[in-house]
Amino acid sequence: MSSRVLVLNSGSSSVKYRLFDGAGTLAKGLVERIGEAGGDATDHRAALQRIMAETDLSGLVAVGHRVVHGGAEFAEPTVVDDVVAARIEALIPLAPLHNPAALSGIEVARKLLPDVSQVAVFDTAFHATIPADGVTWAIDAGLAERWQIRRYGFHGTSHAYVSRRTAELLGKDPAETNVITLHLGNGASACAVRGGRSVATSMGMSPQGGLVMGTRSGDIDPTVVFHLHRVAGMSLDEIETSLTRRAGLQGLTGENDLRAVLDRRAAGDPAATLAFDVYCRRIREYVGAYLAVLGRTDAIVFTAGVGENAPLVRATALAGLESLGIAVDPDRNARRDQIISPDGSPIAVCVVPTDEELEIARQALATTQPR
Ligand code: AMP
Repeated sequence: MSSRVLVLNSGSSSVKYRLFDGAGTLAKGLVERIGEAGGDATDHRAALQRIMAETDLSGLVAVGHRVVHGGAEFAEPTVVDDVVAARIEALIPLAPLHNPAALSGIEVARKLLPDVSQVAVFDTAFHATIPADGVTWAIDAGLAERWQIRRYGFHGTSHAYVSRRTAELLGKDPAETNVITLHLGNGASACAVRGGRSVATSMGMSPQGGLVMGTRSGDIDPTVVFHLHRVAGMSLDEIETSLTRRAGLQGLTGENDLRAVLDRRAAGDPAATLAFDVYCRRIREYVGAYLAVLGRTDAIVFTAGVGENAPLVRATALAGLESLGIAVDPDRNARRDQIISPDGSPIAVCVVPTDEELEIARQALATTQPR
């Protein structure tokens, strides 16, 4: 049986695609600046038509669609029919910036590839196993229930993939391995994974909470919002834009790319030095929290753009934790080895490249094939 799967990651102005078969990637690409003058395509339909023209989709068994928000109801990748599409649409208020584009991608693919299963793979789904005490905030319970306010968590495909790969790297059964995964990219989140299941994660109702990111603040006291509104006179839209696009590394230094922050820090720039310290300290605070959540931890793993490429972040975030069984070997870290802790460390420290598209393809295929 064919195992060809097309993965589509539809954003508001771009569609990323990758075509897989059992042996690996057959094709990949990006359709950009959708709807803009001089862009690659006028709309999502034209974008998919372009991908279909550029790529041999014969023998395709599934299209895996990345969907950011699956709310409380989607705990698994799900084959999309009219009912599922309507349920995803109903979740738009929870992810107004992300879900509409994914839905356009799904609708277009259903029309243009009607004989192929369309599978929605949700960033939130891996976190459906977090227990109630880990997703509930201590606010008015009636309000929370009525307005679906709770932690959902994101980057689920990455945390799932990386935690499983880490167990394999350590030669352990994923079902018996406890891992703290640190996905540090432009967006960033931490996750505690017990036996292959997420039990805690740092992002909340949206991808705004938790760690310091490229342009997002991560955790702040909600009073910041009231204060900026009442005292600074900013509108809610202005506050949202500030906290999501002009915060994080961008807010502290004017640069959203950690490479630029590291260069300025090396040159002695105080703002870049503080931003780096804030960034690393927040990671360390979450590691400490998740060691306590897990009780027994086998590994701490770094992934995504920063996690895979910034040895200084890895070394700084975990410095001085030897008494907890955590150490980073400077040579292994500098060499970018996969295991960067000394041999025999009670808790391994690893660097494992993430591959969200491969995980989406794997989940889409597993969903369409009889078990
Ligand atoms: P991602 O979202 O996973 O693609 O990660 C993108 C981010 O990774 C960029 O914004 C950079 O801040 C960061 N990054 C990529 N390469 C490096 C590097 N060599 N050193 C530090 N940060 C890096």
